[in-house]
Amino acid sequence: MSQLCAVCGAPRTTTEAACPFCRTLFASTPAVDPAPVDPSAAAVAAGWPPALIAELDGGNLIGAIKIYRETYKTSLKEAKEACDSLVAARRR
Ligand SMILES: [Zn+2]
Repeated sequence: MSQLCAVCGAPRTTTEAACPFCRTLFASTPAVDPAPVDPSAAAVAAGWPPALIAELDGGNLIGAIKIYRETYKTSLKEAKEACDSLVAARRR
């Protein structure tokens, strides 16, 4: 993928956001290939307890709900709803 500077016509040969010759900003930065998302790592990064994610990874929804309740001191209903929504999000 190459881009030409709109001002001086220089080919874009670096990953810099501006032309190395005239310093004009390129119109757009090259698209970066999105890194494959590990849903478990993403969930932990979003603040979910790693132990809870480990339970879900093992297919143990009940265990995950238990950890959620212990971590956030919620009712069983709240914990189940939260874990259900996380499971649904991870299936996307
Ligand atoms: Zn230029």
